[in-house]
Amino acid sequence: MSEEKNLNFLEEIVAADLEAGKYTSILTRFPPEPNGYLHIGHSKSICLNFGLAAKYGGTTNLRFDDTNPVTEDTEYVESIKEDICWLGFNWAQELYASDYFDTLYEYAVQLINKRLAYVDDSRSDEIAALKGTPTEAGKDSIYRSRSVAENLQLFTDMKAGKFKDGEKVLRAKIDMAANNMLMRDPIIYRIKHAHHHRTGNKWCIYPMYDFAHGQSDSIEQITHSVCTLEFIPHRELYDWFITKLEIFPSHQYEFARLNMTYTVMSKRKLLQLVNDGHVNGWDDPRMPTISGFRRKGYTAESIRTFCEKIGVAKRENFIDLSLLEFCLREDLNKIAKRVMAVLDPVKLIITNYEDGKTESLVSENGPEEHMGTRTLTFSKELWIEREDFMEVPAKKWFRLAPGALVRLKSAFIVKCESFSKDEQGNINEIHCTYIPESRSYNDTSGISVKGTIHWVNAATAVEAEIRLYERLFMVENPAGEEAELRDLINPASLEIIRKAYLEPSVATATTAERYQFIRKGYFCLDKESTQTKLIFNRTVTLKDAWSKEMKK
Ligand code: ATP
Ligand code: MG
Repeated sequence: MSEEKNLNFLEEIVAADLEAGKYTSILTRFPPEPNGYLHIGHSKSICLNFGLAAKYGGTTNLRFDDTNPVTEDTEYVESIKEDICWLGFNWAQELYASDYFDTLYEYAVQLINKRLAYVDDSRSDEIAALKGTPTEAGKDSIYRSRSVAENLQLFTDMKAGKFKDGEKVLRAKIDMAANNMLMRDPIIYRIKHAHHHRTGNKWCIYPMYDFAHGQSDSIEQITHSVCTLEFIPHRELYDWFITKLEIFPSHQYEFARLNMTYTVMSKRKLLQLVNDGHVNGWDDPRMPTISGFRRKGYTAESIRTFCEKIGVAKRENFIDLSLLEFCLREDLNKIAKRVMAVLDPVKLIITNYEDGKTESLVSENGPEEHMGTRTLTFSKELWIEREDFMEVPAKKWFRLAPGALVRLKSAFIVKCESFSKDEQGNINEIHCTYIPESRSYNDTSGISVKGTIHWVNAATAVEAEIRLYERLFMVENPAGEEAELRDLINPASLEIIRKAYLEPSVATATTAERYQFIRKGYFCLDKESTQTKLIFNRTVTLKDAWSKEMKK
């Protein structure tokens, strides 16, 4: 065994195999079915497969497990490639299980010749009825004793399209009394007259998952085939095919899938959210897809750190969504540019400031010196956050209120002298005086105030739409609920602010940039943003309960 400490169980296996000389280098694969976009659960598998190979000097194949023509599509293939690249991984080869259809067909013929496979004419309900139960052996199908010649002919006819969907299947001949139900003569080929996204109409028979997956691993000479726990019962069959076909012995290992609170991770359910219009597409920022997280402003770094932190286990558990957000904040805190944005604006007028005058102020872009500084402009009319003013201040209120003093971030101390209301009774203007000697970085006023608020200069502010996201589901484990998915959706998962005011430095933002809107959260430009209409997504709020826990 390797001496290195803190290896996860898969790393231990690989290290031992390499040390024993079983392989000179390892080859792993990530095998998505192109029937949907990748979700955060997949990123765990990606980090694991690519990470394992990278750590031990091996490589990883990207193999599309495209054996089900009905649900698969090239749109999904493209999105999957984009997501893996974005996460920061490079595959050795891009491969498709459908490229092995000829070889897999040959393998099936070999099994027939070895009397290890037969064509069964039974209907699916008849096959199910003869399967037995975990405590009761199954019964042989009357077609089980067909001759090799007859099976070969029928299988050729299946391929030639002589039968309709469901009329016949090819089954492995193993053991109808096996303890493992999957070993009771599993179906390995079915008839499906359907167009395939790569092979078109060439095939009307398609291999089942179990007959495609292990053999594809073997064809590629994958050394360590890592999958999730639900495939444990499939391992016996995986090994059986490899042994009987006498092909390269790939090995399957299982780890616990990622489950996360407030999230669904089945592609079927995610597709339902998209198709039923509960979200605006697979990359809606509320979706737990990699493209959704990316659009919302998550960094690849934070997702990789998250996958590292949760580790690799052999037992299923639930990971709190807050842990992902914690990893995100840690990263954004390091890289996000600090800017000022007023999301719920109210006018602040500085009565003792000259009309038409503008002055420049310097403000830091972030806590780290290397992040540099930028110039802000200041003049008589500003926008401030409505919630930063209280007509009748609460106890320990350090922000604006009649007669109170507050510092405007990177600018001056102001004192509220009066305010006015519109016809509906909403405050529409706050009138202040400013203290010219209190300029930030050069404050000679001798006045100290407890509160600092953000602002933007009304003369130069840019307008933007702001999209605030909350959790998509109201319950911790939506997949575990009886209720329909649509009844579990948080009705407040998206709040749109039509008109916020931002400092002009963000007018040239790209979707690659990350911002902290001071005191408001982390934000990034949305892809729907245009030159004439800026749109920002809230990536995550500044703090939550989890981070407090972590710092205790
Ligand atoms: P779904 O049930 O959502 O369709 P899947 O497992 O069928 O998911 P695949 O495209 O077949 O999706 O998955 C590709 C790889 O990602 C597989 O090896 C699978 O085990 C792994 N994977 C899928 N979901 C998770 C998860 N939640 N955690 C870890 N790995 C996962
Ligand atoms: Mg699958």
